[in-house]
Amino acid sequence: MEKAKKIFLTVLRNKNITRPEFRETADTLSHLLANEAMTHIETKTINVETPIKKTTGIALKPSVLLVPILRSGITMVHPFLHYFKDAKIGVVGLKRDEETAQANLYYNNIPPIKTDDQVIILDPMIATGGTGIETLKILTGMGIPQKNIIFASIVCSPEGIEAIKSQFPDITILTAGIDEKLNKDKFIVPGLGDFGDRYFGTE
Ligand code: URA
Repeated sequence: MEKAKKIFLTVLRNKNITRPEFRETADTLSHLLANEAMTHIETKTINVETPIKKTTGIALKPSVLLVPILRSGITMVHPFLHYFKDAKIGVVGLKRDEETAQANLYYNNIPPIKTDDQVIILDPMIATGGTGIETLKILTGMGIPQKNIIFASIVCSPEGIEAIKSQFPDITILTAGIDEKLNKDKFIVPGLGDFGDRYFGTE
């Protein structure tokens, strides 16, 4: 899985790929992260009846809540639903102020959750970590323990990971790449540019 993530992240970084190629590659990376997320979630043994005989198998133990951070996080929802078919989806709208790099909450619609539910935050880029930290404050404020939270992100900066981990040390961060640094405009270096602009075509 590590090699697959590296290969597809290399494709995604390339500024010359077309929008369909960017979307398809981002989807593939989200699939790989969803698959990896599954390995971190508890399972239970269940009975199943094949056309031949009764046997046992496994299913995920907790209910899963996906929390995409608008706008780019929604690109990861569909790939994750392939793995977490019954997941509820709670949406958080946080926009980074381009001048100050501060995260402003403009939308918050998270369904009722139980404290033993498994939460998976979706945001393809962890840059300063600001939007992630605000989302984590909302979720932990609702009583979700850090150990039940996975943060799935395609590319991260070391600064962003450090900022999140210093406040939420017990969450799990899954990513395809931890890059060199942030530049003065708070973009990830080398990164892949503006993920949302490339995916949605707003560049
Ligand atoms: N968001 C992006 O889309 N790209 C970055 O490099 C940082 C934040």
